[in-house]
Amino acid sequence: MNVATQAKARSEARSQALYEEACRHIPGGVNSPVRAMRSVGRAHPLFIARAQGAWVEDADGNRYVDLVGSWGPMILGHADPGVLTILRETAARGTSFGAPTVLEIELASAVKDAMPSIELVRFVSSGTEAAMSAVRLARAATGRDKILKFAGCYHGHADALLVEAGSGLATLGIPASPGVPAATTADTLTAPFNDLELVRTVVEQHGHELACIIVEPVPGNMGTVAPAPGFLEGLRDLCDACGALLVLDEVMTGFRVARGGAQERFGIVPDLTVLGKIIGGGMPAAAFGGRGDLMEQLAPLGAVYQAGTLSGNPLAMAAGLATLTRLARPGTYEELERTSADLEAGLRRASAGHPVTINRVGSMLTLFHTPGPVTDYESARTSDLERFAAYFRASLEGGVYLAPSQFEAGFVSLAHGPREIEQVVAAAEAFFHTQ
Ligand code: PLP
Repeated sequence: MNVATQAKARSEARSQALYEEACRHIPGGVNSPVRAMRSVGRAHPLFIARAQGAWVEDADGNRYVDLVGSWGPMILGHADPGVLTILRETAARGTSFGAPTVLEIELASAVKDAMPSIELVRFVSSGTEAAMSAVRLARAATGRDKILKFAGCYHGHADALLVEAGSGLATLGIPASPGVPAATTADTLTAPFNDLELVRTVVEQHGHELACIIVEPVPGNMGTVAPAPGFLEGLRDLCDACGALLVLDEVMTGFRVARGGAQERFGIVPDLTVLGKIIGGGMPAAAFGGRGDLMEQLAPLGAVYQAGTLSGNPLAMAAGLATLTRLARPGTYEELERTSADLEAGLRRASAGHPVTINRVGSMLTLFHTPGPVTDYESARTSDLERFAAYFRASLEGGVYLAPSQFEAGFVSLAHGPREIEQVVAAAEAFFHTQ
């Protein structure tokens, strides 16, 4: 039975019909390209009808263990009762005012409590906006234009950062996007992740004109990659030596690899931090924050312009607050670690003897279809993408919803338990058995 007929046996008729209709209204039928599932050889994505805990259900009533978690935010699981309650209460008082609310103060305090490097924080609505704004602030504060990013790290789709980006772009094989003027990226330097020597060379040549080094401390957008011991510390030292700012993009890792993000886990103090995903608890919220003397340069205190109609939106603040409050409970990250370690162990058993590399940092995990090791974008790209696509489709058949790209992290939530882990491992066993 080929994949197409298998899919029919499970029935995806409603998803398929919805996709055809969506394509008449929305480019490619999706509002973010990787959702289309084209790179994994599928004709249409699944339309999701509802989700609860660690499970998503598609429009045809098929249920899957979800390892996507809306690409990271759903660390409590879907439709968490605490989040839903505060959302209902908040919505009843009005959904947007474009004026300050007490919820913004409460979420800002919760963020600062988790991340002591943040003295002031500003909320925005997407990680793209947050990273773009942090880079603008870094450039303004240093009076320098150049920035350094790492190949395969993704910081959203602001023009200056769309150079050798990972995630959807890598999968689609587009090195950078048409429509980004060459002048906009002329000041963006790139280096391979984990290659401190190369960064040192870049800093020797360009340090005096470098505004910041921006990095995903644990990249998730080339698949999960751990920072080599000393790499992040080395970036901190090089920034100090040349007067550039260190910007940690913790959109994925913030409140994920530890409550205080990668900066807590690896003991790094950044100048600026970019946050998103979990900070909005499944609603559109993101933020950037850091040293007070830098953040005070933002309007209205300073001259650096940055704004947003829906920034600090009450519903997004409320969902973020409920999520961060739950995450602050003792034992939370130990629980996540245990479940994630069980998943890793199960996948190692299931794939034993096959050319795979499993990278895991906390509740971020990627199974690469390459003997590895995977330490940067180049090594991530040695993955066999045909095999990944087959693994992805087999996982769906086995009731497991993975990110439809090799270059993504899988996310474990507090709602995942032994039953869900068992299902993911069983689907992997079934796949590797046929290889
Ligand atoms: N930074 C990182 C590390 C991300 O993973 C993402 C999104 O996946 C972004 C920035 C962009 O965030 P958003 O999709 O909310 O614009």
